Amino acid sequence: MNTTQLSTEALTKQFSELKPPFSKREATIEATRCLYCFDAPCITACPTSIDIPTFIRKISTDNVLGSAKTILEANLLAATCSRVCPVEELCEGACVLGADHKPIQIGQLQRYAMDYLYLKGAQPFELPVKNGKSVAIVGAGPAGLSCAGELAQLGYETTVFEKNQLPGGLSTYGIVVMREPIRVALEEVAFIEKLGVTVKTGAEVGKDISSDALLKDFDAVFIAAGMGNVPNLGIAGENLEGVTEALAFIAASKFAEKEGLERLKELPIGKHVAVIGAGNTAIDAATIAKRLGAERVTIVYRRTAEEMPAYEFEYEFIKNEGVEFRFLTQPLEILGTEGQVSGLKCQSMQLSDKGSDGRRSVVAKPDSDWILDCDQVIKAIGQEKLIKLYSAFGLETEKGYVKVTEALQTSNPKVFAGGDCVRLVGDAMTVTAVEDGKIAANSIHQALSK
Ligand SMILES: Cc1cc2nc3c(=O)[nH]c(=O)nc-3n(C[C@H](O)[C@H](O)[C@H](O)COP(=O)(O)OP(=O)(O)OC[C@H]3O[C@@H](n4cnc5c(N)ncnc54)[C@H](O)[C@@H]3O)c2cc1C
Ligand code: SF4
Repeated sequence: MNTTQLSTEALTKQFSELKPPFSKREATIEATRCLYCFDAPCITACPTSIDIPTFIRKISTDNVLGSAKTILEANLLAATCSRVCPVEELCEGACVLGADHKPIQIGQLQRYAMDYLYLKGAQPFELPVKNGKSVAIVGAGPAGLSCAGELAQLGYETTVFEKNQLPGGLSTYGIVVMREPIRVALEEVAFIEKLGVTVKTGAEVGKDISSDALLKDFDAVFIAAGMGNVPNLGIAGENLEGVTEALAFIAASKFAEKEGLERLKELPIGKHVAVIGAGNTAIDAATIAKRLGAERVTIVYRRTAEEMPAYEFEYEFIKNEGVEFRFLTQPLEILGTEGQVSGLKCQSMQLSDKGSDGRRSVVAKPDSDWILDCDQVIKAIGQEKLIKLYSAFGLETEKGYVKVTEALQTSNPKVFAGGDCVRLVGDAMTVTAVEDGKIAANSIHQALSK
């Protein structure tokens, strides 16, 4: 494997945010296009129910801080959401102007208002007197931070325990830098801290602090631990030089960018990279590999394009990046020469008849082994469940996810959970994690106010 041969100028282009921010003029023009609909469908389509017409109207009248406050009242992680939300599927997809014209660029307007607030260093909320009750939160990702911020505004002493050295969860470590640089995620954490939340990093619950201590010392606990690492493939060759786990690969690129683009030149990158899996993590890892200068990047997936977990628009995006796809392909073994990856032995698959659930499974085609030439393999086949943590709290689980009620209460009435760790059904998105944090904060408040 090599390091990138791209110039600093090329890297700047490849690793800048995908969309440039709106200027004041662009934001004002876009805001005045909005019809300020009554019963606006864009609000219903937003999982956190941001009052979109109101915040847009405030931008059009140059009340940008007021606009940011309207947004934050519904979503404390709005700077992240403005960058990472699949707006085509949510608010912008529902905008009435989408039928005949271009929908309002709600995400870009939200980003404009939030960037303005962070630039000004404003904190627009009055903080209440503490109510003497305390809540522990496990995980400083979007769900944990949202819950912590909401509870702090209700007067609770909230402490977030985060095992990583930096807070922010996947916003800091997982979402590609072109969508969200680490700086944005950390600014948002600093804002939550200004609401009176304590964030303790390098503090793993179950290792540095026990579940029993949290249950004893706090009035309630919110578990927002997300998911674990990418699991092993369980095939030969995984220990070879050149085999990488997708989340570690993406995180390395984010941290390199944080320290200055020159650092990206130190990252090892293959000439031909095979990415195994076809979810958002695989798409993101393939994008980074391509942008670091890999000549060929091939996504290997055992099913077809129809079953890909990644969004349609991400599939289109990645095809435009020049990434190739090998559908109906099952990796069998990572091949190596002198300890370094030299190829991926694969088997072709075919679809079988539909089962009773209406889903077609895949079966191997006999005698169909072939070799994909590659010198780097990136594993991106989902994330592990954190069963050990849940059992430390004695929680019931279903298929590895924490079992919760609608109020996000677990089988232990003192413990609530939300975000990716409860997302057995539905899309795991930042914005749904943020909404879970709000729901849990409300449920905890109700439970502790009795
Ligand atoms: C590569 C990738 C790209 C994505 N891109 C998008 C996107 O573009 N748009 C979008 O909407 N969503 C995207 N997502 C999904 C989104 O990032 C998640 O849905 C969201 O981050 C979930 O938030 P969370 O708070 O539940 O979990 P996380 O963000 O995973 O945060 C959980 C936190 O808990 C911590 N933790 C775990 N165990 C412990 C412990 N025992 N003690 C203390 N702390 C602990 C973890 O270190 C982590 O910081 C992406 C996900 C991935 C993996
Ligand atoms: S649906 Fe579109 S036009 Fe109507 S309020 Fe929402 S953003 Fe504005």
